[in-house]
Amino acid sequence: MSAAPDFAVIGGGIVGCSLAAFLAEAGARVVVYEREAIAAGASGRNSGVVQHPLDPALVELYEESVEHYSTLGRGFELPADPVGLLLVTDDPDNLEPEPSEFPELRPTLLEGADLRAAEPTLAEGLVAWRLETGRPVPPAAAANAFATRAREAGAEFRIGEPAFLALDGTRATGVTVAGELQPAGAVALAAGPWTPEALKPHVKGPGPLTMPTAPKPAPAAAVNVKGPGPFIRALWGVVVELELPDAPKHVLEETGIKALTQKAGGPPVLFSAVTARGISAVGSTFTRNQPDPAKLAPGLLENATRFLPGLKGVNPRGVRACARPSSADGWPFLGPLAGLEGVSVASGHGAWGITLGPASARLVADQLLGRPAEIPPALAAGRI
Ligand SMILES: Cc1cc2nc3c(=O)[nH]c(=O)nc-3n(C[C@H](O)[C@H](O)[C@H](O)COP(=O)(O)OP(=O)(O)OC[C@H]3O[C@@H](n4cnc5c(N)ncnc54)[C@H](O)[C@@H]3O)c2cc1C
Repeated sequence: MSAAPDFAVIGGGIVGCSLAAFLAEAGARVVVYEREAIAAGASGRNSGVVQHPLDPALVELYEESVEHYSTLGRGFELPADPVGLLLVTDDPDNLEPEPSEFPELRPTLLEGADLRAAEPTLAEGLVAWRLETGRPVPPAAAANAFATRAREAGAEFRIGEPAFLALDGTRATGVTVAGELQPAGAVALAAGPWTPEALKPHVKGPGPLTMPTAPKPAPAAAVNVKGPGPFIRALWGVVVELELPDAPKHVLEETGIKALTQKAGGPPVLFSAVTARGISAVGSTFTRNQPDPAKLAPGLLENATRFLPGLKGVNPRGVRACARPSSADGWPFLGPLAGLEGVSVASGHGAWGITLGPASARLVADQLLGRPAEIPPALAAGRI
């Protein structure tokens, strides 16, 4: 690519890769900057389910993302039909009220013999809502397929170094990589939980997130911008991978995930199990500090046997650990950032970035391309 690209995208997760694909397919010149590898973050290590978000503000993103996935191909296969989600608890007092605002999910209360008939792998004494949603997919498949699609449309990927927003005053001039300016017409920040760092190249010392691969601060020559605070924070998750002789047919989730976006926060562990192509991901943790996955794995499995007794004695084949890009209200930040020119955000999808990422990226792509973009105000980055 000889001339400066129209767009630099920082981050090669599901959001950055799908954004690059939509931009490049519209004829724009795009460079994606990824500091580690495609799907190195949560987009490669999630539980792997595309499912209804049970939040009216997010339903359109979900439905549109399902459409994108159904035609994606390139190694990605969306199950044609949902396998069904069981929102399960061993304490009936904790059962969430019927999600009656989504009748299309056909909520059905199951307990006792009815629940065990629907999902024989479950322990006795549980109660669950069954919802007609949940399509399991291998964790990195979506990001990799969108990266392939972006490359096919001419997008370039520069992998191995962190990139940071470069500004002249309040206008984006491109990104800095290893202290050097790489010009671009506009910059899109899709760096997951590290998005605030990519936006604030002047920040010295540890930001709200510290991890071994944390980006080095850009050299002092970088232009300073007084950006917003950590509007996206890491919510770390660990899931254990197993090959179960008798894997659950449903997606299983312990009730309570909504509490995670409420002020008081949620519990540090909520049981979940998702099986895609014979591999079950059993989790999951929700912590602000980076966990030690090997230490957490035995406790996670022990907790999960309350729900799935068949887990006892099965050896894990691996552990996935990664950080969810979580916002305070549980909604993503999409579109232009107030106070800066040529800077857009596409991040903050928390626990549901695989489910919502492609439609979010399509909205931000339209905004960057100057097309009419219908970013709902509740999800606009302007609210930062
Ligand atoms: C345990 C767990 C289970 C989950 N399960 C599900 C699920 O079943 N379904 C679902 O829908 N969602 C799930 N999620 C959430 C989902 O994985 C995330 O919301 C989604 O992957 C976020 O995608 P992203 O592209 O925004 O960010 P990321 O995947 O984090 O990608 C950001 C990328 O940016 C790169 N980067 C960071 N800083 C820089 C920089 N300065 N320069 C260049 N590159 C940089 C990183 O290396 C990374 O590759 C789960 C998350 C966790 C933790």
